[in-house]
Amino acid sequence: MKKKSLPKIPSDKKSSGILRNPLNGSPKGGSGKGSRRPNPFVVLVLAAVFVSAVVALFASDTKQNVNEKAALSDVIAQYHSGAYSEIIVEGNTLSAKKPAKEKIVGDRVVKIVDVDKVLLPPNDGIVDLGFNDKAVPTKLTIKEDALGNALIELIPTLVGAVLFLGVAIFLFSRMGGGGANPVAFIKSRARIYDPKAKDKVTFADVAGSVEEKEDLAEVVDFLKNPKKYRDLGAKIPRGVLMAGPPGTGKTLLARAVAGEAEVPFFSISGSEFVEMFVGVGAARVRDLFKEAKEKAPSIIFIDEIDAIGKRRSPGIGGGHDEREQTLNQILTEMDGFDNETSVIILAATNRADVLDKALLRPGRFDRKIVINLPNLEDRKKILEFHAKGKPLDADVDLSSVAATTVGFSGADLGNLLNEAAILAGKLSSKTVTAAMIQQAIEKVVMGNTKKSLRMTELEKKITAYHEVGHAIVGKMLAHTDPVHKISIIPRGGAGGVTWFLPEKDRTYVSKAKYFDELATYYGGRAAEEVFFGSDFITTGASSDIERATEMARAMVMRYGFDEDLGPENFAAEQVAGNYLGAEGSGKIVSEKTQEKIDEKVRLILKGSYSKAKEIILANRELHDRIAVKLLEKEEMLREEFDAFFEGVEGLPEKAVA
Ligand code: ADP
Ligand code: ZN
Ligand code: MG
Repeated sequence: MKKKSLPKIPSDKKSSGILRNPLNGSPKGGSGKGSRRPNPFVVLVLAAVFVSAVVALFASDTKQNVNEKAALSDVIAQYHSGAYSEIIVEGNTLSAKKPAKEKIVGDRVVKIVDVDKVLLPPNDGIVDLGFNDKAVPTKLTIKEDALGNALIELIPTLVGAVLFLGVAIFLFSRMGGGGANPVAFIKSRARIYDPKAKDKVTFADVAGSVEEKEDLAEVVDFLKNPKKYRDLGAKIPRGVLMAGPPGTGKTLLARAVAGEAEVPFFSISGSEFVEMFVGVGAARVRDLFKEAKEKAPSIIFIDEIDAIGKRRSPGIGGGHDEREQTLNQILTEMDGFDNETSVIILAATNRADVLDKALLRPGRFDRKIVINLPNLEDRKKILEFHAKGKPLDADVDLSSVAATTVGFSGADLGNLLNEAAILAGKLSSKTVTAAMIQQAIEKVVMGNTKKSLRMTELEKKITAYHEVGHAIVGKMLAHTDPVHKISIIPRGGAGGVTWFLPEKDRTYVSKAKYFDELATYYGGRAAEEVFFGSDFITTGASSDIERATEMARAMVMRYGFDEDLGPENFAAEQVAGNYLGAEGSGKIVSEKTQEKIDEKVRLILKGSYSKAKEIILANRELHDRIAVKLLEKEEMLREEFDAFFEGVEGLPEKAVA
């Protein structure tokens, strides 16, 4: 029972990985900066074990569906008709394997092998039973003992482990070649991208994002021609922060910078620092910067810097944790650079709003490149980029796909075409058709359908009225997006979904739209109450209520939409800002103000609910008709829905904002 429309406000649920550090709570002992550093040999062995586990996991992607109750006569008959790909005899059991079938489970392709298992009669051997028929192409395998089998099954695992060791040793020896010793590599744990690698990423691999690329090209130029800028008296930027929602290509852009600049590029992720033992994070930063300086001009890329650079909370916990030490070390290193050092630090974050302001001061990350969700034109370019190598059917129009994917990130778009291609493979189609792409969009937006989620007739009925409630309220208000699709096929955890699709990209959202959206969120619950009575309202509206509450709080606390409280920010430390990095004042509101905020939020929410209920009450008969149709068809598209409103009085003219 979800209503989908506005792009999600990035949530701050991402917990800092430091909580997982078992040593975190313990006093910061003299852990000796080097003594806890993992020994390279131990790392390799652990990695090999890990790889073996992964290999074992992949191996189990083939599922055997064993039929223990197969009848021997039946197996013999099927054998002669060529139904099996392999017959395996082990002691007195015979397993007859059918060819693997592919099935999609969740988002993985799983191979299913049907196996018929029978016990051989004590007096008849397989030859007696006719399992050596030359005319049948089925492979016949006779296994001698169980131990031998176990060893054979272990082979892929062992091969994986040996391969990994080989690759690791090869990498280490290469790192060593450049003068840096392999241990230093382990110490800083940064990955170095080889600027001459064949598969390097360049700006050509980033579709759209023209302005972002221009900004970054400047950085590349600083590194390539530092003298040009120094002669002009220009200060070379120290740190460049890329901020934007997840999946917008920040990591990709950073790798492209490495490819373009052709200088050593050290890459490490903030979460990797966090996972380290006490005292090691700071030491690693030191090593990393030291190495980068030796190799200058060079780039250090810190991905997901919010994992370490989170605002330090005053008072709580004394603030001497690992994260803070690491952060302080970064700041110290950055301050230690002089204008002659050609090391640029590039960082990326989805949450610039939670970053410690010390990071953003001049001389540190003083350049910010905001990376937005792609607009229509860029979505088309990204789709075209990811469509390369995928045979698209003639009926596919990527412009229209771009138009229906407002709010999708680059990663979503790549994902979408990949899903469509998987679907094509599943259906043994030679091309990816428009219908497959449409299905993939729905999967990305609304989640996979869960046909197995059984709902009772009453639940289905309530769901239908609930979803139509969202749709009708949205239709009757001026500032909402058009209904794209209503469905009561369960998806994810929801029984149904109403999908509103914006017709164009939006940078700002008006107050009027916020209010209309709120009422639309309550359309579901209001419909339940109107049609089934207040005793029968369900838990299905919980996510609608959650989202509405979040919106109303933002309206009052951040957007200044409440006239009484005025255009003041009450949210600085309490509500997640957006990725642009709101300059929070860090103030804590007075108790009296807080009460007033709560009261206003409640007022807005109750008012929105009343508005929704009013609309539902005024359109009961229409609601009934649409819900009956939806129950029958389970899904309804915009045209069918809109057709119900022909000749209906009081339809608003859709507003532009
Ligand atoms: P972020 O670091 O911002 O979360 P990533 O750089 O990891 O995002 O992007 C994830 C994937 O999404 C990329 O590997 C790429 O396949 C795709 N992608 C994102 N933006 C673009 C783009 N502008 N052009 C092409 N592919 C993109
Ligand atoms: Zn709902
Ligand atoms: Mg990333």
